[in-house]
Amino acid sequence: MTDHDPSFPRKARWLAWLGLAHEEHADSSSAGAHPEEGAAHFYRDPTPQEVWLPAKRRMLGKITDFLIDHDLDVLPFTLGVAYDCVTGASPRLAQLILERTEAGQLVNLRWLEEVAREHDNDKSTEVLTSLMNRLERSLDELGETTAGARSATSEYNSALREHFDELEEASETNAVISRLAKLTEAMIDRTHQIEKQLCESEQRTRELQRTLDETRQVANHDHLTGLPNRRAFEHLLEREYREALASGEALAIAFCDIDHFKRINDVHGHPAGDRVLKFVAESLDKISDARCYVARHGGEEFAVLFRGITVEKAYRKLDATREEIAQRRLVNRVTDLPFGSVTFSAGLADLFSYADKSAALKAADEALYVAKESGRNQIVIARGGGHGFEAAA
Ligand code: GH3
Ligand code: MG
Ligand code: MG
Repeated sequence: MTDHDPSFPRKARWLAWLGLAHEEHADSSSAGAHPEEGAAHFYRDPTPQEVWLPAKRRMLGKITDFLIDHDLDVLPFTLGVAYDCVTGASPRLAQLILERTEAGQLVNLRWLEEVAREHDNDKSTEVLTSLMNRLERSLDELGETTAGARSATSEYNSALREHFDELEEASETNAVISRLAKLTEAMIDRTHQIEKQLCESEQRTRELQRTLDETRQVANHDHLTGLPNRRAFEHLLEREYREALASGEALAIAFCDIDHFKRINDVHGHPAGDRVLKFVAESLDKISDARCYVARHGGEEFAVLFRGITVEKAYRKLDATREEIAQRRLVNRVTDLPFGSVTFSAGLADLFSYADKSAALKAADEALYVAKESGRNQIVIARGGGHGFEAAA
């Protein structure tokens, strides 16, 4: 900065506001300072360290405040969340945290992990969309190349036709033959070019298709259990509902929720809880087939869709799994401590006994609640249209 710097007063105000004004330089004892220069030298350019250190300190202070305010442990994950919130890197997360805090609910590790998982899902939707767009472009390109090849061939054919016509009439046959030879040569070159372009576009399209398939797989599956996730299940439900309605087939949905799962985590730790979750997922998945879909609906909840069987038959199928799981005596293989019996409760509803899909889902959810209230480890069938519930034991 010089004495003549026109931006000086504004810059000076910023520095003062940031707490970076260096008053010691106003001291006339500073080397080279004289009275007229005093005011100008009051604001010298700060060193990068002088700018960054206070800013860093403020940021770390805010991160620490965030962790203390929400009583969060200092983990790489929570530090990342705090950083994203205080720097505004994730305004959506900051907003969700604010809403939750205002609603008087806890912003704990479990909730943050769930939000982060959903956020990842959002991100995979973005990746999918962008891949789909690229694939579409690549298919267009392939189409254009193929169209190019077709028009080049027809151009060649009509040129040939012309020359053949000439050939029939021509007296100078040799000249026409040499023109034909040139034309053929040019056509061969053009064909090679097109062939190369086609190969390249085909390869690009194949690669994109593969990436798209892999991304779809990741976006639609739960990474812990390998089951379809909630988003995939919702798509599936949409499709099955439409098709079953059109074909007049039955369709039933069950929401299953592991009983007292929090206790398993509390007693045995989160990794052991994960193993139990996987075990329940595998057991439930055994009933899945081309007409029965099992998905992880969230946390320790699973959703099952039964197509083409009555709600009673669906009940018997699901209850056999409930019984099988409840009979097992699982042991934590890391500590050798027993998990005790792992059970789940479920609410089951016939999708077509309700005015619409969401009314049926609500009924299944309420039936699950009834199953929990009635002592857990049981499946309750919702009796459509507000006729109550039935524990079909
Ligand atoms: P209820 O019988 O009423 O369902 O009781 P609950 O303890 O199963 O229900 P609650 O909703 O109180 O607790 C569910 C717990 O599931 C809380 C959460 O920490 C845990 N959880 C959710 N997702 C996961 C996961 O992916 N892994 C592990 N280990 N735990 C999870
Ligand atoms: Mg639950
Ligand atoms: Mg539960």
